[in-house]
Amino acid sequence: MPDPAPDLADIRAAARAIAGVAARTPALTSRLPGLPNPLFLKDETRQPTGAFKLRGAANALSRLSPEQAARGVVCCSTGNHGRAVAHAARDLGIPATVCLSALVPPAKVEAVQSLGARVIRHGRSQDEAREEADRLAEAEGLAPVPPFDHPRVIAGQGTISLELLEDLPDLETILIPLSGGGLAAGVAVGAKALKPSIRLIGLTMQTGAAMHASLQAGHPVEVEEAPSLADSLGGGIGLKNRWTHALCRDLLDEVILLSENEIWRGMHALHHVEGLTVEGAAAVGHAAILSSRATLTGPTATLVTGENLPPEQAQAIARSQPIQIGDQLAGGPEWTTY
Ligand SMILES: *Cc1c(COP(=O)(O)O)cnc(C)c1O
Repeated sequence: MPDPAPDLADIRAAARAIAGVAARTPALTSRLPGLPNPLFLKDETRQPTGAFKLRGAANALSRLSPEQAARGVVCCSTGNHGRAVAHAARDLGIPATVCLSALVPPAKVEAVQSLGARVIRHGRSQDEAREEADRLAEAEGLAPVPPFDHPRVIAGQGTISLELLEDLPDLETILIPLSGGGLAAGVAVGAKALKPSIRLIGLTMQTGAAMHASLQAGHPVEVEEAPSLADSLGGGIGLKNRWTHALCRDLLDEVILLSENEIWRGMHALHHVEGLTVEGAAAVGHAAILSSRATLTGPTATLVTGENLPPEQAQAIARSQPIQIGDQLAGGPEWTTY
């Protein structure tokens, strides 16, 4: 029988399971001037890995059978998921293997290695690294830990909704960065179960937004990847997507797309007004508010999902300088008024 989609009970169980590994994060009050309603920032940059993905990874890893935990886990993410799996595995004493293609820069390889994971360099693309992860799962009996389309990963990310509604019971809207949809699905399952009237808005970049294209099409589709300040929101949702596409379709009220200039401005406001230096994926909520694509009709929370951005981007944002994204220049001084 296929695993069912996670429910509120699964998210509550996840909250207990991850308590020793992932942090319970605060909801900060926004300092943006002139807002018509209160805005809160769920600060996931405070996770030990600098991003919320530790929640899902910790839940998936902590609930393995003892036999599976002894054999270990495998994943293939270059970004926040790979770091999360390596960190949770170290905390829980589970062997972890992370497959990375030859294109992954040395700093990222070292970040994963320094957490004690076995790193396998394989292939010239993320797809080839994934094939190697699949092969190792089979050959060595390792449990694959997917970045979003997995009931325990979704339930782990969903723990954010329990914390938010405990701290802010009056919340009316949650702004959720959207990529593969593990975060949006988990938060939506928890938040709509606790408060059916809540409005949930998925936010992503204009080009290469696979979940948005898949929701429009009514089934998972592939889109061409494009460089973005929100690089953590890139990548496909998997043509064999089992959970996140249906959950996002059924539970998200709206999806909003943001331009690179708007994302740059969100990052700039987070740095200069809120005092948080974050990656583009974490700034889409601010981008939507500042561009008036989202209006604050009541108390609203935005999920500030991660802080793992390249140092040269952090420097450009601090200096209000534009950033080269593919063949376009994003942001600059003309985007700095609030
Ligand atoms: C992975 C990630 C997201 C999106 O999460 P999904 O579950 O893939 O939708 C958003 N922000 C950051 C920083 C991430 O690493």
